[in-house]
Amino acid sequence: MGKGPTIEPALRARSRVLATCLGVLFLWTATSGCQRSAREPEPTPVVLVTIDTLRADHLGSYGYPRGVTPFLDRLATQGRRYANAIASGSHTAPSHASIFTSRQPFQHGVVKNGQRLPAQERPVAELLAGLGWETAGFASVGFLNELDQGFGTFDAAWRSGDKTVDLALDWWAVRTAGPEAGQQPFFLWIHLYDPHSGKGPRPAIEPDRAALEARRADEGEELVSLLEQRGLDPAVFESTERLLDRYDLYDAGIRFADRQVERLYQTITAAAPRTRWIITSDHGEGMGNHGYVDHGKYLYREQLHVPLILAGPGVTPGSDPELVRLVDLYPTILDWAGVAPAERPTSLEGRSLAADGGPGALPPRLAFAQRRPKDGARHRQSWVDGEVYSLETARYKLIHGTHASPEFYDREVDPWELDNRAGEGDAMEGQLRDWLLTYVASADPTTPEEADAPTEHDDELRALGYL
Ligand SMILES: [Zn+2]
Repeated sequence: MGKGPTIEPALRARSRVLATCLGVLFLWTATSGCQRSAREPEPTPVVLVTIDTLRADHLGSYGYPRGVTPFLDRLATQGRRYANAIASGSHTAPSHASIFTSRQPFQHGVVKNGQRLPAQERPVAELLAGLGWETAGFASVGFLNELDQGFGTFDAAWRSGDKTVDLALDWWAVRTAGPEAGQQPFFLWIHLYDPHSGKGPRPAIEPDRAALEARRADEGEELVSLLEQRGLDPAVFESTERLLDRYDLYDAGIRFADRQVERLYQTITAAAPRTRWIITSDHGEGMGNHGYVDHGKYLYREQLHVPLILAGPGVTPGSDPELVRLVDLYPTILDWAGVAPAERPTSLEGRSLAADGGPGALPPRLAFAQRRPKDGARHRQSWVDGEVYSLETARYKLIHGTHASPEFYDREVDPWELDNRAGEGDAMEGQLRDWLLTYVASADPTTPEEADAPTEHDDELRALGYL
């Protein structure tokens, strides 16, 4: 198997130095934070948008041909598009908790929906609020109420994205009313759930869906052919008609969310043009790859590869091919906010995307992810037992299950992770496994094995198929 001139030789060299200090491998942030020497005089506001269940390859700017993200594609050309951004999990609450804490699920303890971050965690909203920032969060499922730590204003309920954005714009109107209002920097988080499958409140997406359905005769065959190139197993669906039904529904949810983000963006940037934007997702969706349409069961490319677009002042426009992780967002926000190294938690796993220059300036990275536990609904009976983790470089990926055969992929020749090469003798497989096992063994014994999970969200979780 050929080895191109990629980051891996450097990674191997580094490994000798870092093998005894694995934490540093994931904690480059401490040094990157030090690269910033001065505070910005006026911290600029930050808006974080997470569009739930959004596979990167369904955005036009990531190569999707159906034109369902016109706004995000424009934003990607104005800002910085990260072509290879990886989530810390394939399940909603754990992945969001990792974004907010820059820590992995086994570290912060939120491993499934409905759990609450332990009080000792210090999410980014809490840190910014402590520095005098106004913080607000509006989410589109109720169980995300458990991630409200640090938000001065917070509202989470199961609803379509237009309602969530309406609430955010109501908040915005109040904070910007009056001559003295709205002077504080703010951190706003918006979560949209419209692309997520299930019985959600989604009638508003039906007109978009009808438009996509109407185009099937012209482009359906071409679309299926493209999807097969991207690893789709069409046998997952009863018929091509059913397959396209599923894709139309998913893409209509994405189109709807794109329009809601545009609405939010236009209002906020008109009044606060120095606002910085982060657009991403918590995880992708199977959509028929690896014989699976959902997300929580697996950690394949289609589950973990998410879009990531940064935009606003100081963001260098362009496309960045480096491997980045959603745990990198917290230190990025701290850099943007001018937070001094001494004021930062020492436990952040990510590395700021703001501290370096253009593409290629970043050192090689590893991205870690963790599957949610196997429990609950009957449909999970086909899940493998035990813990499942993944660790990847820009090219190689290991999936390690405590009760499953190992999987090892070389994305240079197998971009959709279909050809398992575990046990074929590539040294990177053993290297990734060593790193992974050392990393998960490093869990702080004071972290609760599982975070607290109040029962008040059980009805919603049951309706969504999680219980
Ligand atoms: Zn999710």
